Amino acid sequence: MLPTSAGGDDEFALTRGDLVASVDAYRQANLTLAAWAPLISMFASLFVGALGSTVAGSLDWPAWTQPAFFFSGIAGMAWCLVSSVRRQRRLTARTQWQCPNCHTPLIAAFGLNPLARAEIVIASGRCPQCAQPIFGTRDTEHDGP
Ligand SMILES: [Zn+2]
Repeated sequence: MLPTSAGGDDEFALTRGDLVASVDAYRQANLTLAAWAPLISMFASLFVGALGSTVAGSLDWPAWTQPAFFFSGIAGMAWCLVSSVRRQRRLTARTQWQCPNCHTPLIAAFGLNPLARAEIVIASGRCPQCAQPIFGTRDTEHDGP
């Protein structure tokens, strides 16, 4: 019913199955140990840094060891954070789809529920941003009024 200029064959025709597969791949990738390793090592690094700093303080080690432990803990934490952010960006780029009408990305890299948009699209078949139908295939399922 909507006056779309696009025919059936655009540069790509996203199907519900494609999006479901991408959402699934994104979820699976975030469930693996590799996804949690940077976070775990981040806290481990901070813990070792704090522990080393405390031990160096109480065991009468040279004065420079205490800040050295502390800052190496912070540096390790920052590195883990950066590598985690990079990994997440790569994953998002790999599984990403955009609305063919307004080019809104359907999968976010971060946030409380990065898959919220994709889930809305899977459920409704429409873009949550511009409300245009997203899937390239003719939808014979009963839509709302
Ligand atoms: Zn849109």
